Amino acid sequence: MAHTSISNKPIKFSLNPHRENTVFQDQWIPLTPIEKMSETNYDVIIVGTGAGGGAALWRLCEQWGRNGKRIGVVEAGDLLLPTASGNIPTVNGEIWGKLWTRNIDPTGIIALGGQTLFWGLESPRFDPSAFITWPITYKDILPYYLIAEQVMNVTTAYTRDSALQQVLLDRSRSNGFPEAQTMPIAIDLGTTKYGQVHSNPIFSSINFIAYAINIRSIDLSVNTPVVQVLTDKGRAAGVKVMTADKKTYTLSAKTVILSASTFNTPRILLNSNIPGEAIGRYLKEHATVSADVKTRRDEYPEVLGTSRIYVPDSAERGFQLLALGPGISSPFAEKPLAEEINFRFQTYGPLEPRPDNRVFLDPGRLDPYGIPRLNVQYSYNSRDLERIERMFEGTRKFISSMNFTLQEPPELWQAGNHFSGTCRMGNDPATSVTDAYGQVHGIAGLYVADNSVLNLTSGSNPTLTTVALAIRTADHIIETMI
Ligand SMILES: Cc1cc2nc3c(=O)[nH]c(=O)nc-3n(C[C@H](O)[C@H](O)[C@H](O)COP(=O)(O)OP(=O)(O)OC[C@H]3O[C@@H](n4cnc5c(N)ncnc54)[C@H](O)[C@@H]3O)c2cc1C
Repeated sequence: MAHTSISNKPIKFSLNPHRENTVFQDQWIPLTPIEKMSETNYDVIIVGTGAGGGAALWRLCEQWGRNGKRIGVVEAGDLLLPTASGNIPTVNGEIWGKLWTRNIDPTGIIALGGQTLFWGLESPRFDPSAFITWPITYKDILPYYLIAEQVMNVTTAYTRDSALQQVLLDRSRSNGFPEAQTMPIAIDLGTTKYGQVHSNPIFSSINFIAYAINIRSIDLSVNTPVVQVLTDKGRAAGVKVMTADKKTYTLSAKTVILSASTFNTPRILLNSNIPGEAIGRYLKEHATVSADVKTRRDEYPEVLGTSRIYVPDSAERGFQLLALGPGISSPFAEKPLAEEINFRFQTYGPLEPRPDNRVFLDPGRLDPYGIPRLNVQYSYNSRDLERIERMFEGTRKFISSMNFTLQEPPELWQAGNHFSGTCRMGNDPATSVTDAYGQVHGIAGLYVADNSVLNLTSGSNPTLTTVALAIRTADHIIETMI
């Protein structure tokens, strides 16, 4: 039977006046004006939103749920990218390089999410032997490694069906590197189904912030660099913040977590006259021996897959070896029709801690906010040079274990992306800046949670350890907060 309600009369259709010119919000994350933040007394203020700041924020929100604690987050940079750059389809290698440049200071990446917007995802643990000179043991950090690996989706499953990975693992294992294994990386391989969202495979600190704001509300301000931390009678009292138009605001907080990076956290402490002999000292970076090799495509199975193989650092070896390809950046890059495939080898070695390797304020060079810029002083000693020699030799052996031929000799990169140590943790205030929980010696409620707290005693990439320590710091704050 025909539907009586359906007819061919013209349909009356009027445009909704509110939809004629659709207006979009210009923000993909809720922001709070700094003027409003200056009227709030915070329980915790976090300075910086990279790996350390994001991890501390997530853990506080996850543990506190919707209790009445007030959390403020202050970021110097802007809303550069809403996700890790590797998740953005238009960001190819060329655009990637143009999106950020390390300036002469070098102050890393100033943006919401920090360096994790561009990082390489490699997330190995430090070897237990690396903790011998630390104020905590491997056993102390292990539960936090497990939490960090879970929240960052650290996995080796991305090479599961890769023929290339298997061929190269077999070769390296039977040619002198029995410990060769798949490099764990922070990537979400889940598919989006049944209401679960897995649309951001490559992990960045934006994931931490997203998890946090889905649990509770926080106040977040961007383009507002912290220039000083404020103290009162040996306790943290808040931070001093500036805006692009050079206005200054004071934010009050019982607890302040500095997560502004290896360069900017000591800069804030030094600019605040926080006492501490070790602030800015013991700067560390991995010496990196790097080599690019090419190999014939027709030596490998038709369906290649991707490959990242590493030989973990250990007390005996003293450095970490890594081979990645095809190509050098994407874990999914594959060119089935190419005649040759490229591989990059990177060997990271930790150097000796020395107080003379340091950053310090240069009162003769001011930034646009009138804050002294940093000078960096860094050199190798004879034992560092011996280790670097061994790293060259180890890299050559690793390359030949996979039957690759070197075309150009390996080279030494003197500055990379693993700067650490300028606020390192320890028991002695003469040689360290924070205690074993990241609390600055002598200042209750002032914490550091970023790479600066890390004593880079391992050749492993640093971020997983920084995140584990930041989560541990957050737990300590929760346990001890009055
Ligand atoms: C290209 C690249 C590849 C990398 N690959 C890897 C890898 O594969 N594995 C690995 O472990 N590590 C890797 N890293 C290093 C990794 O990104 C860092 O270890 C990690 O991001 C450091 O975290 P952080 O919290 O110390 O600093 P950052 O991530 O730099 O965060 C610092 C934050 O503080 C903000 N800030 C700075 N100054 C102020 C201020 N005055 N006030 C308020 N906010 C401020 C910044 O804008 C930023 O948001 C890579 C880095 C780069 C650049």
